[in-house]
Amino acid sequence: MNTDRKSPPVDAKSQTVSQGVRNPELRQAVEEIVPKLMYPLENMKGAVEGAEAVGLDQRATLGSGWPWLSRVVLLITDRRLLELSVRPMGRRLEGRVRTFPWSAVTTISYSRRRLQLTARNGRTIEWEVRLPLSQAVLDRIRNSAARLGEPFGSRVCNRCGSAAFSGGRVCSGCGAWVVDPREVASYGWTTPGAGLWMTRHPTLGMGRLFLELTAALGFGMVVLVSGSAPVLAAAVLSAAILLTLIKLESVRIARLVAARSGVGLRWSKQLWERLRTPSVVLFAVLLAAPLFFAGSMNTRISADLDFVVSDQLWSPAPEKNSENDPGIRSAWSHRDGWTVTVTAEALEPFTNFEDTYTWIERNPGDGFERAPIGDFETYMVVDPASTAGLPEGTTSLELHVLDRTGRDVHTLAAQSPAAAVSVRISEIKNLLRHAIWIDPREGDRDRGLPEVLRSQ
Ligand SMILES: [Zn+2]
Repeated sequence: MNTDRKSPPVDAKSQTVSQGVRNPELRQAVEEIVPKLMYPLENMKGAVEGAEAVGLDQRATLGSGWPWLSRVVLLITDRRLLELSVRPMGRRLEGRVRTFPWSAVTTISYSRRRLQLTARNGRTIEWEVRLPLSQAVLDRIRNSAARLGEPFGSRVCNRCGSAAFSGGRVCSGCGAWVVDPREVASYGWTTPGAGLWMTRHPTLGMGRLFLELTAALGFGMVVLVSGSAPVLAAAVLSAAILLTLIKLESVRIARLVAARSGVGLRWSKQLWERLRTPSVVLFAVLLAAPLFFAGSMNTRISADLDFVVSDQLWSPAPEKNSENDPGIRSAWSHRDGWTVTVTAEALEPFTNFEDTYTWIERNPGDGFERAPIGDFETYMVVDPASTAGLPEGTTSLELHVLDRTGRDVHTLAAQSPAAAVSVRISEIKNLLRHAIWIDPREGDRDRGLPEVLRSQ
């Protein structure tokens, strides 16, 4: 097959090519491949750059890559039309060569820069080009063309010029591995960008890898800051949908690019085969890992404590220092003239209640106590040691209410003369028995007090 193709006289051909291909790099690539493709008595009639025609629906869809993934050079000879796929930047050949013998063509139509060939078997092919020849000339060429055995649209090896590999994965002329679109596309599901690297499109491959990594990391961030089960479920569901769409798109682009490739690099194929399993595992770990730390970085307070007080013992109090402490959510005055301030804060990222409060449980001495009060899990801290800034003989009291769902700690704090500690502790516990959860209001942390309490 290969042996009957000898270099034709170059002069006329390269002149025709140089008229039709403007980019010098691309022109050189075309001039280099032409001698491999042409039959001895075959004559070049014209060369032109164009694009495979795609429908409007395909153009509108992301991923058709039109026109960058549709570029071609068409070579018109007296025996056939040869189509060479061109890379997106238009400087090099992509690899695939297809042949359309005039003897197999029944109709040529050209209007509005669309060239359409129809074959005897009904197949059609369409390009968007500015033809260098009139349709009348093209029809004359077709009518007088010698018969060729090559099937309409069949492929020709871009390395050796053999037409003997159609359908197979290896060129029977030179033994080169031929890129198989289905095989390449399957990497779209498993290894981000691999199909594109394999077909020598590293920039596109990096783009896909970056996109999929960004999506996975974005999903991880949402999981880490998610404050509740519904938010987490929504994050997982949208990530599943988004990732499926991205993967479908990756598969589609890989298939599109692979279909336009010619012979491939064996080492590249083998390398990616070896990397397939590790990449699947890595990506699965990347997606699953944040789930184990769900909500760890949630720093928003998910609920506030409010107190239903009706016995005149407690009343809402303006807190003097609230402007200096944005953590203060409310303050409550006891009838006897002392105040309980309620603060709230989210747990630090990647910490949990067990670690944070273990020290309290390990030191069950004076003033430390863990006990449920009503529906609330609480830790009591009475700390005579922390007297900094307090009047002589005064002790600080703290009662922590753990909100495990929201990963928040709510603290009821007060001061007490040493003699009154046990009375005030029971009063605070009594206050907590009237507690309910309410929605935290946006901006309250800056203002110190909920508006409804300020007005009183
Ligand atoms: Zn070959």
